Amino acid sequence: MSTMMRIISQINAVNMGEQVHGTVTEEMRGQIALMLTQIELADAVVVGCGSGMSSAAGYDHYHWSGTLADALALFRERYGFGSPFDGFYHCFSTPGEQWAYTAAYICAMADAPAGAPYLDLRALLSGKPTFILTTNVDMQCAKAFDEDEICAFQGDFAYLQCAQPCHDARYDAVQAARAMVAGTRDFAVPDVLIPRCPECGWRMTPWMRDDAFLEEAQWHAARARYEAFLRRHVLGGARVLLLELGVGDMTPSVIKFPFWQMAAKNKNVHHITVNRREARSPGKLANPGLYISGGIAEILAEARRMKEEHHERI
Ligand SMILES: [Zn+2]
Repeated sequence: MSTMMRIISQINAVNMGEQVHGTVTEEMRGQIALMLTQIELADAVVVGCGSGMSSAAGYDHYHWSGTLADALALFRERYGFGSPFDGFYHCFSTPGEQWAYTAAYICAMADAPAGAPYLDLRALLSGKPTFILTTNVDMQCAKAFDEDEICAFQGDFAYLQCAQPCHDARYDAVQAARAMVAGTRDFAVPDVLIPRCPECGWRMTPWMRDDAFLEEAQWHAARARYEAFLRRHVLGGARVLLLELGVGDMTPSVIKFPFWQMAAKNKNVHHITVNRREARSPGKLANPGLYISGGIAEILAEARRMKEEHHERI
């Protein structure tokens, strides 16, 4: 694990230490109604999806809870990991031990159903041209939205790459992970099951942002689709809603800053932030942004309920 990734993991663990869930107050209900109006009025929606969305969905990578606590309990007990991600970046004694944990992690997320906030978001945006820009690597966005409408900027556990990397390709991780989990003995994967690069024979590594992250052809294609979506809608003068969900402060250059910039420059671009902490505002947007602080799962569930109630009344 690189020093940078270790620091990010530790800081995220601190940031995520706050209450994920919360109740919806009357004041928040008013804000949610404004959000529903903005969604209704929008010609297109760009979602910026951060780690707070997966935490709200019950897949907290920075604290032991729910699905991951159950799936990785034996590893947690053996190694004393402080969180799922701590284990992901632990300095294991052998590649076989490292892969035993990584493969179990990948399988746990591959088998995890789409979290409720993701399904609520899909229901809220149904019928709207939508694009998802995410820093999450845990396969959740792809379970609720089409691959074509997602740019996984930091990579995704669902894939492997050559660790060097020697060539421009990513490979399915889940099939390899299942074989490794099945073959794991005494917390180690046998050498024969450890994935090797088909080109150079070097070891493989999960396809996620690190020093050797490979921005390969599929990554560039997804980024090009995202940029084309922005050109078509934002530059085309359409009314666009930027919906920022659970985005922390760790990598603001991916979602937060570009969103602020687009909202500052374009009067037809509106910006809504939903986060469990007090949201910060740049203060100079062409349209004043809406900031909703509270539990993301509860806010999206309430938004969906209000939307469906509204439709029933019509
Ligand atoms: Zn290679």
